[in-house]
Amino acid sequence: ISQSEKKEFKAETRKLLDIVARSIYTDKEVFIRELMSNSSDALEKQRYAEISGSAKSNDLGGLHIDITTNEKERTLTIFDSGIGMSRKEITDNLGTIAKSGSQEFVKSLQNSQKGDTQTLESIIGQFGVGFYSTFIVADTVEVISKRDSNDSGVRWISDGSGDYEVATATNIGFERGTKIVMKLKPESREFSKESEVEKVLKKYSLFITYPIKINGKLVNNLQAIWYRDKRDVTEDEYERFYEHLANTKIPYKFKLHYSTDVPLSIKGIIYIPSTHNEKMSMQHETSNVSLYCRKVLIKDKCQELLPQYLRFVKGVIDCEDLPLNISRETYQDSSLMLKLRNVLTRRILKMIEDEMKRDLKTYEKWFQDFQHFLKEGIMMDTEHQEQILKLIRYHSNYSQDTISIEDYLKQMKPKQQKIYYITGATKEHVLQSPYYEPFANSDVPVIMLFNQADEIIFAQKQTYKDKILTNIESSFDDIEQDVLRAHSPQQEETDAPALPEEDITPFTLWLKNEFPLKVQKVAISKRLHNSPAVIYGQMSSSMRMIMQMMDQSQR
Ligand code: ADP
Ligand code: MG
Repeated sequence: ISQSEKKEFKAETRKLLDIVARSIYTDKEVFIRELMSNSSDALEKQRYAEISGSAKSNDLGGLHIDITTNEKERTLTIFDSGIGMSRKEITDNLGTIAKSGSQEFVKSLQNSQKGDTQTLESIIGQFGVGFYSTFIVADTVEVISKRDSNDSGVRWISDGSGDYEVATATNIGFERGTKIVMKLKPESREFSKESEVEKVLKKYSLFITYPIKINGKLVNNLQAIWYRDKRDVTEDEYERFYEHLANTKIPYKFKLHYSTDVPLSIKGIIYIPSTHNEKMSMQHETSNVSLYCRKVLIKDKCQELLPQYLRFVKGVIDCEDLPLNISRETYQDSSLMLKLRNVLTRRILKMIEDEMKRDLKTYEKWFQDFQHFLKEGIMMDTEHQEQILKLIRYHSNYSQDTISIEDYLKQMKPKQQKIYYITGATKEHVLQSPYYEPFANSDVPVIMLFNQADEIIFAQKQTYKDKILTNIESSFDDIEQDVLRAHSPQQEETDAPALPEEDITPFTLWLKNEFPLKVQKVAISKRLHNSPAVIYGQMSSSMRMIMQMMDQSQR
């Protein structure tokens, strides 16, 4: 039976290939990084299968990448002895763009017309289009692959236009793995030259922990960077390692090379990126911290290692206390994992705090883009809530710069027991609010919240370090009037004569009668100077708005 068949690429894959082909690509060489990253993933999968006992474990040493160049034929061939692909897998993986978000991205990229290199660069890799970058340099790409369990291999071939061919392949010359043969375009002939490919490998693939050979010559040093003394690692190496981990050329923001023996023995490198994919709500970030034990990968992109809200963090963590043969099922809820997760969470939050203290301007810029992760953390992670709260920046009535809640505490007046805050759309808006009037002439500090998440957090939290978080839209009785008076330079105004009691009583009675269900109490107060009246209740005005919105959306 002939088992060869011709198939068409899925529509969005074709679009993507089209963009790849049309672009004037300045950084052609990234396809090597993409293929190395795929090979390395395939090798890790195989290694994991061997360690966890689901695959023959007699060839742990046989995991490697072999590259051959042929200038005369104008070809470049990359082989890895990784897990390989079955016929179905090869069709599924190389015929469609699997990852969500990429379709939308392709659309927006097409709209941006000229397919600018910067944007193109960021999709390649991040959006699971890595393999297709081969068509930047190749006229035809042939993929031959075999899984251990299959009797024969499979051959996939395409010129990157509309369709591809899949066929069963025998006598492929290896027992397990994937071989990719690229017939290079004449203008990309440099990638059939050993020295050129070697240069690119040195740039992108130094951190792959499997031997990479080019025409039989070893190129990488197989050293785990996180095991080295941080004084010996250059900034350039950290940057390249990040590129390798995050598969991006966008530089990271903060970094921590971490080593400790208490309470667990941990070595690792943690990176905080400078941007994230949730920004334009393109896709949900997924954890990208890999878990190792003595340089052996336990789990790539280990979800359980950090809480959800830290999903923007990238890096590697190597914990010697984990048993090497720990299996997928056991690490998930082992108490050791919980402990590790706790230690790491605390350390990462401290790292962010240190960066905030070190250089506030830089931190503020980063915070603008990442605050929603932190606020999610305050809501979800009660254990580290106060630690995260310290990282939030607020506006205030006393400083041009943003403040933290700790800064506020330092600014509080003697005898002041409450933390005052007000919510609104902008600073101007808040300063004109009738609720703010009693504070306007005082120098009692007030936090201004322009973000609903902040208000929900304050309302839910209620106190911070024994100080009651008080929305100044609440009853005047809740506000420390003696503190206000003591810190208001223009105090006379407060004592200005009010209307006589008998003039007001009929009005208050009328109000109560008119709105018996809505009004609980009508009171005369010295809180206002310019505005006639304010309404207060259990909820602030913006909280009422939120509730109304939620109410409406439920109908
Ligand atoms: P990504 O690596 O982001 O998933 P790619 O386009 O680079 O996207 O690769 C698509 C998929 O093809 C991979 O997820 C993997 O399943 C499969 N694949 C690619 N290269 C190999 C390889 N060398 N060995 C095994 N599987 C591979
Ligand atoms: Mg890839």
